[in-house]
Amino acid sequence: MDCREAERFSDLSLDGETEPSEQAAFDAHVTACGRCSGRFHAQSWYQNNLRQKLQESSDRLEPPSNLKVRITAQISEERSPLPWATPALVAAGLAAVAGFTWSQAGATLDPEEPVARHTHNLPPEVRSRGDVMEVSRFLSAHLEYPVELPRFDEERSNVRLVGARLASIANRDAAYVMYDQRGARISLFAYPKPRRFAPPPGFGEREAHGRTLQVGTHRGYNVVTWLSGNTVYALVSEVDHDRLVELAASQDR
Ligand SMILES: [Zn+2]
Repeated sequence: MDCREAERFSDLSLDGETEPSEQAAFDAHVTACGRCSGRFHAQSWYQNNLRQKLQESSDRLEPPSNLKVRITAQISEERSPLPWATPALVAAGLAAVAGFTWSQAGATLDPEEPVARHTHNLPPEVRSRGDVMEVSRFLSAHLEYPVELPRFDEERSNVRLVGARLASIANRDAAYVMYDQRGARISLFAYPKPRRFAPPPGFGEREAHGRTLQVGTHRGYNVVTWLSGNTVYALVSEVDHDRLVELAASQDR
């Protein structure tokens, strides 16, 4: 492997995407070549710093705007162990890290999974017999965290609890509770709060009975999502937002 190839492989190596034979050739070159060794270690140092800082920032729910600029400035102020590290290297590190971190953050907030489960319309594993008892019992038997179901007047709201099943959202076991309003389906999902929780992009905030709800639309479906304790709740339906907000607000605390 020559210097040009080593330069090309350094990103792949940092992302752990090289084949073992390629990695061995890369390691051998970097060990022998001072120029590539310096470049690779500088890149690795920046990437680790950026990853850590991007993660801290998204933990604090900061918006991505200006974030990269600020982080770059912040890192530049800190003493770099590698004085020859150039702005071009920082930019390369950012490009490599940004895709990883933002896609991870996006995955935890994405309304895509709840909406996809709603559209698949799988049958319930447990059916309601007119009250929430059967469904509550099923959920507490299968999930390691409590799920608080909305309590509302079925007569007045015309919303009927149909049943529930287990689902998987953000790689965790999730509750999938089904309701019916005059033939329109309403799905409620509950799953453990991802470490990085931020409102889905494009959603608006709404207050209802002291609860802060995120209200938006995804693939033509209305979505209302909120956080209660360490659990994320999401309602998905073609039923209008006001009705979903009413349901969300009726949840026990
Ligand atoms: Zn080299």
